[in-house]
Amino acid sequence: MRATSRLLDRRKAIRTSLERGGFDLVVVGGGIIGLSTAWQAARAGLRVAVIERGDFAGATSSASTKLVHGGLRYLAMGDVRLVYENHAERRALADTVAPNLVRPVPFLVPLYEGGPHGRVKIGAGMLVYSALSKFEDGPGRLMSAKKAAAMVPALRVEGLRGCGLYSDHQMNDSRLALMVAHAAADAGAVLANHLEVVAFRDRGGRISGADVRDRIDGSEYGVDAQVVVNATGPWVDHLRAMEDPGAAPSVRLAKGAHLVLRQHEPWQAALTIPLDGGRVSFAIPWEEQLLLGTTDEPYDADPADVACTDADVEQILAEAGHAVAADQLVPENIVYRFAGLRVLPLGEGDTQHAKRETVVTIGPRGLVSVAGGKWTTFRRIGFDVLHKAREFLPDVELGRADVVLPGAADPDAVARVLRASTPDLPDDVVAHLASHYGTHAHALATLMATDPALARRIHPDGPDVWAQVVYAVTDEWAFTVDDVLRRRTTVEVRGLVTPQIRADVAKTLTATLPPLSSARSEPPRSWLGRWSRRRQAAGA
Ligand SMILES: Cc1cc2nc3c(=O)[nH]c(=O)nc-3n(C[C@H](O)[C@H](O)[C@H](O)COP(=O)(O)OP(=O)(O)OC[C@H]3O[C@@H](n4cnc5c(N)ncnc54)[C@H](O)[C@@H]3O)c2cc1C
Repeated sequence: MRATSRLLDRRKAIRTSLERGGFDLVVVGGGIIGLSTAWQAARAGLRVAVIERGDFAGATSSASTKLVHGGLRYLAMGDVRLVYENHAERRALADTVAPNLVRPVPFLVPLYEGGPHGRVKIGAGMLVYSALSKFEDGPGRLMSAKKAAAMVPALRVEGLRGCGLYSDHQMNDSRLALMVAHAAADAGAVLANHLEVVAFRDRGGRISGADVRDRIDGSEYGVDAQVVVNATGPWVDHLRAMEDPGAAPSVRLAKGAHLVLRQHEPWQAALTIPLDGGRVSFAIPWEEQLLLGTTDEPYDADPADVACTDADVEQILAEAGHAVAADQLVPENIVYRFAGLRVLPLGEGDTQHAKRETVVTIGPRGLVSVAGGKWTTFRRIGFDVLHKAREFLPDVELGRADVVLPGAADPDAVARVLRASTPDLPDDVVAHLASHYGTHAHALATLMATDPALARRIHPDGPDVWAQVVYAVTDEWAFTVDDVLRRRTTVEVRGLVTPQIRADVAKTLTATLPPLSSARSEPPRSWLGRWSRRRQAAGA
């Protein structure tokens, strides 16, 4: 990427903020676990920085199945307590913490003649699963094949004896992670993406910060901190080896790949397709497309190289084909593919049946490492990491109250206000902005009111508009075209990126960056964090 002088100014400003130091906690890794840890820590009054080598949620945290769920598979594994806890977290996220981004979806479990499960077992499973969420989504039950086909037009009906019905939620994982980033910044954390930790600093045999390399301007410098948290997901053992070259591996990795397909007709429910051997495959309506997956294979190569291969595509389509009509599953419908890595505890046996546990450890030089776990329980994992790090930190109160994420709101209420303030905006754009931005959509409306050209769609077939690109740069830490098209907007996951769009976004990125000299007359935006603003105001 050709760095412009404004871009370089921005990177320098990040460096100044980080070099000032005085951090209680530096979190390495800006996936959902690092961001959540930073959020909890900043809320507790600690001085926190997050350092992310790529983009926030650029790795596993934007490669999930997008489910906020109790976890039907844990029920099958007999882990009733885990399902109960996950359900409670799911409801909290959907009801209060992020209701615009965490949306309910009914799930059907199709039961075919000769399939792996019978009606009695699935009927009982649906009932227990819904009981563990206190029937707050209504009781799970069996449904006739006819009713199921009315909800899912592409459901394969030959041999279908009925379906189980249960409820879970889904999200846009990239945008939800960004809202957690906003929350951390609002609570005072300094967030830096495109910055890689290359070594640890040492004071008297203990880790006292990190040496970093800026992946945009190439500069190298150090960041001092009392405690460093290693929240690098699939890279967790790489960082542990930086702490102690003799450290034995602590986790194994399993790849999961997904496809996004153009959908012929909207579905009213998702499918959980039982496969032989106890696995399931999902077919989920998501962002007006169809999300399929996932696979589950051991992975030993470099985590940075993980990708959805042609063999994965074949497997995902074949597994979906158990329940989805063949004409929906033609390769020409594929608009996007992606893969991520599950981080599993070391152990014998196949990865498919390994527990998705979170393990927090402290290394010989004080590095706090977190590995594994679910997106659904990100708040609890962040809290657990902080609890563990506490022995090295000032005495802080760890609050557990339900704090809502920035922008959190009933999306229908946001849409009503948006419609009134921007009456020319098409309904699909209004609904898209309301659900993906919550009350932050009003900032986008202000941008569009100031410059009506920003209300134009980025691609005629999608609901994303140019105001989002500007907002991504000014308020959401976007530095590259991929940051914008893959994670701040949904252009790429809908298969709508063209060379012209990439070029126009690149132009907007540089044109939108405020020169630092003009930014000095007003407080910098959230990308430097309120903490840095407070320190600047205090003349620190
Ligand atoms: C296929 C798949 C499907 C899933 N589906 C679901 C689901 O539907 N629901 C659910 O609840 N959970 C799901 N999960 C689990 C969930 O996605 C993960 O638990 C979660 O995203 C892990 O987040 P993380 O922050 O630990 O890791 P990551 O998101 O991978 O973040 C780690 C970050 O560390 C950064 N990093 C690495 N090295 C350095 C360095 N040296 N310096 C700076 N930064 C560095 C990386 O760039 C990366 O962004 C799924 C997981 C997979 C793999």
